[in-house]
Amino acid sequence: MKFDRIVRTTCPYCGVGCQIELNVIDEKIISTGAPENSAPNFGRLCAKGRFGTDFTHHHSRLKMPLIRKDIDKGLRFPVGVEGFREASWDEALNLAADRIAETYKKSGGEAFGTFCCAKATNEDNYLFQKFARSTLKTNNVDHCARLCHAASVAGLQKALGSSAMSNSIAEMKDLEVFIVTGSNTTETHPVISTFMREAVVKNGAKLIVIDPRKIEMTNFAVLHLQHKPGTDVALFQAMANVIIKGKLYNTNFINSRTEGFELYSKNLDKFTPEWAEIITGVPSDDIKEAAEIYAKANTAAVYWGMGISQSVHGTDNTISIANLALLCGHLGRSGTGLNPLRGQNNVQGCSDTGGLPAYYSGYQSVSDNEIKLKFEAKWNTHLNNKPGLTTLEMSDAAGSGLITDFIILGENPLMSEPDLNAARHHFSKLKNVIMIDIFFNESAEYADIIFPAASFAEKDGTFTNSDRRVQLIRPAFDTPGEAKVDWKIIQELALKVESRLDRKESSGFEFSSASEIWDEMAELVSPFGGISHSRLEKEGGVHWPCPLENHSGTPYLFSDTFPRGKGLFNVLELRLESEQPTSEYPYILSTGRILYHWHGGTMTRRSVLDKIYPKALAEINPEDAEKDGLQDGQTVTVSSLRGSVSVELKVSGRSPKGVIFIPIHFSETIVNELTNDLRDPVAKIPDFKISAVKIIQQSSSLT
Ligand code: SF4
Repeated sequence: MKFDRIVRTTCPYCGVGCQIELNVIDEKIISTGAPENSAPNFGRLCAKGRFGTDFTHHHSRLKMPLIRKDIDKGLRFPVGVEGFREASWDEALNLAADRIAETYKKSGGEAFGTFCCAKATNEDNYLFQKFARSTLKTNNVDHCARLCHAASVAGLQKALGSSAMSNSIAEMKDLEVFIVTGSNTTETHPVISTFMREAVVKNGAKLIVIDPRKIEMTNFAVLHLQHKPGTDVALFQAMANVIIKGKLYNTNFINSRTEGFELYSKNLDKFTPEWAEIITGVPSDDIKEAAEIYAKANTAAVYWGMGISQSVHGTDNTISIANLALLCGHLGRSGTGLNPLRGQNNVQGCSDTGGLPAYYSGYQSVSDNEIKLKFEAKWNTHLNNKPGLTTLEMSDAAGSGLITDFIILGENPLMSEPDLNAARHHFSKLKNVIMIDIFFNESAEYADIIFPAASFAEKDGTFTNSDRRVQLIRPAFDTPGEAKVDWKIIQELALKVESRLDRKESSGFEFSSASEIWDEMAELVSPFGGISHSRLEKEGGVHWPCPLENHSGTPYLFSDTFPRGKGLFNVLELRLESEQPTSEYPYILSTGRILYHWHGGTMTRRSVLDKIYPKALAEINPEDAEKDGLQDGQTVTVSSLRGSVSVELKVSGRSPKGVIFIPIHFSETIVNELTNDLRDPVAKIPDFKISAVKIIQQSSSLT
């Protein structure tokens, strides 16, 4: 078939960052391909990249700015898109700027909560956090990484001083041993899972899966440790106990590159594999075997997902894995390291560019005076050195009236936050909700003004994938209607707000391209210093850190040192604070993703993928189904202390006994009606993997 054009860009879905080609006829994507010779995917795509980009042409794309019809009545309840009227850009921008300036003059910057977007570009996010920090003087800036990998970030920062994946995807060919834990990789990072399977089948690598669910990767594993949900620390500490007792640790590495070993190793005495068998349900011999396989390998890596991080113990879970790697010297070489598999296409970049409450771009602390002075000089303004609130803290502050205005770039908190009844109540108390998005979503129900933005196929800029590879995206056609590129919306809004605040100084929003925005950020963030749009155009992608133009980028980290100097062993104790099943709520609910859909479903539910997988299916174990008289295909009500959903059952050996798994993508079955708001005390991430629920037959209650 002859196409009008073929546009090379980056997949908008997951953190693998596959390179894709959009085949365009008559300003529409007709099909999608993948270049064979380009990292990271080398011609491979999953169903989402191959078939899921048609959402860009969906009839419900936002094409004009929208203003809530009852905006002046002080009401805030869900009204649907019919409760809004179309407006001109001038009217909507002026109204938004008036309302923002009014709040600022009355209550100051702390009255704002701002949400960056892990689906938008690095340039969009850099400008958005700059707007929050320099115009609104608040560090209340966060994004959905808080809900997925905040605990990986907190744990790795504590142990190493860096939270990114330490190895590139290409290094999977060098794997000798690898552990996959808390990641259903075939469904969440499908193309990475093909490289993992290849490592096993072609290269003879040994895979150990540590996961409560019998996921597909277990078919390729030499060992599957099926531990009870929430007992990760016990398991990894027991593996460390075996390594210490068997003297399988790497003395040279420990002496030269770590600190805290003595205290850590003393504290491990009590974490025997026999003790761990009681806590985790995993036979002690399997724990010993896994520890020996990992410790004795020359190259070994750990890959994990939200099963590790979305926990009230998420930071401890991550630290227990980092301790193991430090113990065995499994860091700083190709195919050897610690790898949190990041979720959204640009969740790595959104954090890198400063979409976090305690950091400017490049993880530079807002509390560090020298760094603050550097940003103040570049932005020609004064900045606030008080770290801001996290996403859920902003939601709490809305509930208590401390925050009155939310400005949301492309996120959908009222689908993704836990305990949605409470979250909606918090939203209902806000004075202003201003959103920038491509669709009218669940959070838009509570908005006052919505600006229509560009999809990934209508703008240029960069995404940073899970392995720190910065890659270009390119426009294939124009935005629909009067929708605008995100950074231009932020720019126009910032300029209007600044003029209403009579700012004498300029904070600098006079950009004419995404590449100019990148260049400003690269000036402020030395690991990006050698990366530019023109270089990416030539080379396809570069792994940061890349401080200089003649630097080739860094596929694997920590070859000589860690950002904190020496790697730190952290002493851990077992904590079991998750919500436990009771006689009334006897099941554990675990939530997660499936292959055909993505997060809140805003995009995939508007693509052809929805025809393939149109509704939520709740997986339960066959023994549970038999015990409770439940059938495959039966629709049941699942309830927790917080709410209820209706869902069809799928009887499957994937879920362990006592666990029901429900995917997160379906607005008809919003699983976060059920989840609880318990949070990791350090990372502030909620416990999405453990909530106590009951299953009720829709004609009569069974359990
Ligand atoms: Fe897109 Fe991820 Fe699938 Fe690659 S693996 S095509 S990046 S969704």
